[in-house]
Amino acid sequence: MALRVAVTGASGRMGQAVARAVSAEPEMELACLVARAGSGLVGSSAASIVGDENCPITVSDVLDLDAVDVVIDFTLPESSLVNARACAEAGVPVVIGTTGFSEAEQADLESTLASVARCQAANFSTGVNLAYRLLSLAAEVMGADSDIEIHEAHHKHKIDAPSGTALAMGHAVADAMGQSLSDVAHYDRSVNREERAPGSIGFSVTRAGEIVGEHTVLFAAEGERLEITHKAGSRDAFANGAVRAAKFIANKPAGAYTMSDVLGLS
Ligand code: NAD
Repeated sequence: MALRVAVTGASGRMGQAVARAVSAEPEMELACLVARAGSGLVGSSAASIVGDENCPITVSDVLDLDAVDVVIDFTLPESSLVNARACAEAGVPVVIGTTGFSEAEQADLESTLASVARCQAANFSTGVNLAYRLLSLAAEVMGADSDIEIHEAHHKHKIDAPSGTALAMGHAVADAMGQSLSDVAHYDRSVNREERAPGSIGFSVTRAGEIVGEHTVLFAAEGERLEITHKAGSRDAFANGAVRAAKFIANKPAGAYTMSDVLGLS
């Protein structure tokens, strides 16, 4: 039987990309597509969103989990927390792609979802998750002798900064060097007029146009520079990864699974 998937954020860029990816996946059935209450999409056919005129469902403003095996959620932290509570109550595994949770919201999310299988990632693309591994290696080998800078660029609509992926890359580098990112991260050079602090990890951010997502980590050592760059060409990279994660966790026991688990990199 096909895996029955509920997708939230029907009017969002990612929600729509995920709905299309689920609909195109032979082993999955799009069982529920949810938009926020008051959205003009509520009650309309999902067919045009997923690009399949045979899609029988209409967009709902209720996350009905009665006949759902797994949920994929890319919305806003506030909405993801509400959806997480519904998943926990119904015992339904959930893939969470939403970023920008505060520390308190993240703690709330984790305790809410303790009883179900879940996979949360700041970035679901295969390339980025492979990049974390490459960054750890680079940090181990040349991190101590390098100035390390992380630059990310996203579309003008993105409100959290630096991106969750840039922070995850920072954690991968800092962890590999036995440091805590909060001790070495440098987010704003406009405040103090001073030279670069040795051992710090600098972050810079671009918000422009419709850039899907680009990340570069620079290791600048004496006489040479190494740059590890990932560029997402379309949201399908994230949507396909989220679909892969949904398949992976659908029948797993309760627990927090990572994209490294999903991709067999753990
Ligand atoms: P978007 O603004 O296009 O969409 C967000 C959607 O959430 C909107 O359609 C909004 O109506 C909907 N929403 C808000 N409250 C809701 C509710 N209560 N019920 C149902 N829907 C609700 O944003 P986006 O570009 O689609 O990104 C969504 C999230 O995914 C962001 O946090 C973004 O940073 C994140 N993201 C993650 C990855 C990843 O790989 N993890 C990749 C891209 C984007």
